[in-house]
Amino acid sequence: MEKKAFQAESKRLLDMMIHSIYSNKEIFLRELVSNASDAIDKIYYKALTDDSLTFNQDDYYIKIVADKDSRTLKVIDTGIGMSQEELEDNLGTIAKSGSLAFKGENELKDGYDIIGQFGVGFYSAFMVADQVTVISKALGSEEAYKWVSTGADGYTIETTEKETVGTEITLTIKENAEDENYDEYLDEYRLKSIIKKYSDFIRYPIKMDITESKLKEGTEDEFEEITEEQTINSMVPIWRKNKSELTDADYENFYTEKRYGFDKPLAHIHTSVDGAIRYNAILFIPENIPFDYYSKEFEKGLELYSSGVLIMNKCAELLPDYFSFVKGMVDSEDLSLNISREILQQDRQLKRIANNIEKKIKSELQSLLKKTRDKYVKFYESFGRQLKFGVYSDYGMHKEALQDLLMFYSSKEKKLVTLDEYISRMPEEQKYIYYASGDSIDRIEKLPQTEVVAEKGYEILYFTEDIDEFAIKMLLSYKEKEFRSVASGDLGIEDKEEDKQENEETKENKELFESMKEILAGKVKDVRASKRLRSHPVCFSTEGEITIEMEKVLNAMPDNQNIQADKVLEINTNHEVYQSLKTAYEADQDKLKLFTNLLYNQALLIEGLPIQDPVEFTNDICKVMV
Ligand code: ADP
Ligand code: MG
Repeated sequence: MEKKAFQAESKRLLDMMIHSIYSNKEIFLRELVSNASDAIDKIYYKALTDDSLTFNQDDYYIKIVADKDSRTLKVIDTGIGMSQEELEDNLGTIAKSGSLAFKGENELKDGYDIIGQFGVGFYSAFMVADQVTVISKALGSEEAYKWVSTGADGYTIETTEKETVGTEITLTIKENAEDENYDEYLDEYRLKSIIKKYSDFIRYPIKMDITESKLKEGTEDEFEEITEEQTINSMVPIWRKNKSELTDADYENFYTEKRYGFDKPLAHIHTSVDGAIRYNAILFIPENIPFDYYSKEFEKGLELYSSGVLIMNKCAELLPDYFSFVKGMVDSEDLSLNISREILQQDRQLKRIANNIEKKIKSELQSLLKKTRDKYVKFYESFGRQLKFGVYSDYGMHKEALQDLLMFYSSKEKKLVTLDEYISRMPEEQKYIYYASGDSIDRIEKLPQTEVVAEKGYEILYFTEDIDEFAIKMLLSYKEKEFRSVASGDLGIEDKEEDKQENEETKENKELFESMKEILAGKVKDVRASKRLRSHPVCFSTEGEITIEMEKVLNAMPDNQNIQADKVLEINTNHEVYQSLKTAYEADQDKLKLFTNLLYNQALLIEGLPIQDPVEFTNDICKVMV
């Protein structure tokens, strides 16, 4: 019989499949089952418009038959079938294909990307089979045809006998290889679990004869092997069900079954969109941080289904990074199984879904915040960091969307508050949103810099995470109120009287402060009389963009460039220590040097910054003691 050659593109794809070292070969079954389901769909849709056709649900099914003796696996369907021409066109060429065209040569070499992400349809059968036989009878045709191929060297087509309309695909499963067990594709339990995994929600029954050992009727200890036809798939997915039919427990079960997490979800979102793009989605906000969440290994993404068939485990495009904690799935009829075939158009659809989903998640979080605050706080304690990261990343592109979801610990409320709540409590004359940074709430509470702001009765937000200040720098302001660190040069609250007094003081002691500045040359930008200290003798303030907390974060990074904040040493001129400084300045330069260094090191300690020479520092203290 004459052997026909595959069209060039097909041959390449086929070669790829035959020589594939792709580890996830089991997806071939998903591909064949989905083709079978498509073929039944075609009859179903025809019957909708063609009165001579009636669609009787019971007549339409997919059947899987494995036979270990002949090493064959059959996928049989009662779908629309293929004519001779269609067999040639559909299986001999990928005429309409884009699967190869859209990918670069590199990705094609081993084919991981294509196979892994999209599947490549019918040809994937050659990952597990030496020979593939397709017998098909098209709807309305008297003739049946047999297509046979053993791989890249071509295929044959001849007429054959087949009673009913539909397609029967027979795979001759490869012999086991050293590194690959092909026998498993003949094992009914293994096949059953593959079907469950990928094709559970195919609309038509997927049947298989399953042999089980059962207690013989009328006996207590005699078993017999009973073979029964079972429907493997559950057919109606939870996401196609009506929300009103489902309970929280149903969603929780789904979450567990799907292994989205080992915890219980904090909240779920079930949405059905029926517009320009149609899809169903079930999304979960987990309660706990997955163990690998903040590690490099963590992959974000949602499961992506096309008409009930799983096509991707983690579709990263569906989730922005700042919502990467969301788990769940999306099923769309508008995405074809071979999403790659019209990748550009599909991509646009995927983006639309992603946009919708992002909005949904945001509004769910907002409603959690409004309606069940303790739940939101729980969520925020786990994932707030990711939201702040979102504000900071992409040059602040998402800050508008995220700012209302932020929370910080409040000096007044002693708990997490939103920016909106902060603003709503602000006294009229308060100019800025104040914050203080430090390693912990306890430490910030004791920061000397907070004194004057607290004295004014203003609320201070405590920043304890490294990302906080960076996020706020990106935000700049909230509802037209700028953020201001309590350590910044200008707090915007000095009253005129005090201002004048402090300035005079500075002038009067210009020379003292100049000497101190010289002693601390290269370490501080300036030494000044403080306007913010009340009971403490000394503290740092900073000038410019880089604050002390930012200095710490930047210098903890692997590529640290030893970035330093411009520090100003502020001296409390109402403190007794100040008198000692003055006396020393007039009488004893060595003492001034000693005191200055001590005060500088104290300011470092208060900030949690390392002291350059701890031995010298402790010796200095001893000098003062004796
Ligand atoms: P896709 O399903 O994306 O079109 P495939 O490689 O899986 O790509 O299948 C190619 C074509 O072969 C299908 O579009 C369909 O026309 C035809 N086909 C495959 N399997 C069957 C089947 N069981 N019944 C009818 N037609 C089929
Ligand atoms: Mg297909």
